[in-house]
Amino acid sequence: MNATIAAREPQTLVRFVTRAYARFLLVGFALLPAYLIAYLYFFQNPALKFEDHLFHEIAIAAATLEGLFVAYVTWQCYRSSGEPLLRWLTLGFLGFVLIYALHGIFTGMAHHNMWLFLLYGPASRFAMSALLLAGLLSYNHPPDSTAKRSDPRGWLAWIALFVVVDLAVAWVAYSPIAGSLAVRLSMEGGAMILSALNVAALMLRRIRTPLMVIYGISITSFALASLAFILGRPWNHMWWLAHAIFAAGFFLLSYGVVQAFHTTRSFSNIYSQEELMARLAEATARTESALQELQRTNEKLKHLAATDPLTGAANRRQFIERVEAEIGRVRHGGTTFSLLALDLDNFKAINDAYGHLAGDEVLREFVHKCLDAIRPYDGVARVGGEEFMVLLPQAGLDKALAIGERIRSSVAGSAFNAGSGKPGEVTVSVGGSQFGRDGNTIDTILRVADERLYSAKHLGRNRVVIA
Ligand code: GH3
Ligand code: MG
Ligand code: MG
Repeated sequence: MNATIAAREPQTLVRFVTRAYARFLLVGFALLPAYLIAYLYFFQNPALKFEDHLFHEIAIAAATLEGLFVAYVTWQCYRSSGEPLLRWLTLGFLGFVLIYALHGIFTGMAHHNMWLFLLYGPASRFAMSALLLAGLLSYNHPPDSTAKRSDPRGWLAWIALFVVVDLAVAWVAYSPIAGSLAVRLSMEGGAMILSALNVAALMLRRIRTPLMVIYGISITSFALASLAFILGRPWNHMWWLAHAIFAAGFFLLSYGVVQAFHTTRSFSNIYSQEELMARLAEATARTESALQELQRTNEKLKHLAATDPLTGAANRRQFIERVEAEIGRVRHGGTTFSLLALDLDNFKAINDAYGHLAGDEVLREFVHKCLDAIRPYDGVARVGGEEFMVLLPQAGLDKALAIGERIRSSVAGSAFNAGSGKPGEVTVSVGGSQFGRDGNTIDTILRVADERLYSAKHLGRNRVVIA
């Protein structure tokens, strides 16, 4: 079986090539925005504009609400796992929202002070990319303490800092340097470089867990969005495309956050599909072996509950169950069955003469002799101290007499080993009854067999009585 699986397993080369192919595809997906940027850059007239303030305001309002929602879910993940990366991600989303919201709010200012409107965009992206880079650098750091997670002071300090950034941007917008290319380029270019560094660090550290792959593709989008902003002019198609690329990255990253929220609430501790398969196989194997063990234990318990520990014969409960089953069979058209009640003669005297341990040995030997004398589908049960019953399916009284006689003569005909070398002798008295002929209930046939056993005793023991 294992050999067949091994034979079907793809060869190492195929595995290697498919893995490399998958990586190549991921890089291709991550660079998708680059193709769009190139298309606009080479084939579109940059002078074409779509200046719609209301549309811009609605889009930014939606982005702000989305950002707040994602910041909240990320924060929930952070509170649960304490992962430093998630703390930085929460701050990144929060900082982005608090700075970017002003970009939307000041849309109407576009014609009064262009810079007050424009600069909040690159400022928000710069802040977010810096915080995300800090996040990646803290990847795999030990989780924050519970105290730190729930302390609001750190968050408030950061919110205050974001407000300071808002004021600083406004100040720059009204300063003479506002229009300089250096101001815009330093923020947008800075955001692009920080995002590129983030992706480079991710690749150099060979971080390849599924959520971090999503993270890497998102950050690549942020870098390319910044590139498109640099290449675009306000309101032209490249500028709008830049917004769309950024939004796509944001959505993808929020998809990762939601995945984390619904699983381990962590970005690093999420298993790849391959790992999941391996773990599943391992868990299934463990469950199966535990189940088999349980079945074995159950069988053992069932056996223990049904047998007499001294002789290994069935116990009274098990015997009654079997008799009831036989009665059911007869009532459904099966042939009759018989019972034998057996009691060792003067057993008290044997105990007295040879000791209790020797008495025990006699009981065990007696069961062996019974088993030798009966048919394979008959059953022996120990129903009392030195009292036994034999169930004889598909047997009338004549058969019962024959088997009872076989047991009796076997017991009487051979001495038992009484320990200390000297052989002892024991006999057995037997009474038999047949279902249907002697009674139609379990109680009556048991009683009749017992009564005949006692007549055997009265008649002098060491005999079989069936009438
Ligand atoms: P009878 O021929 O009338 O049956 O005489 P008996 O001595 O066999 O009958 P009685 O019922 O008076 O005594 C049964 C004895 O069986 C008493 C008890 O000590 C002994 N016995 C019962 N259970 C065990 C056991 O597990 N081991 C041993 N060694 N003896 C047992
Ligand atoms: Mg007895
Ligand atoms: Mg007895």
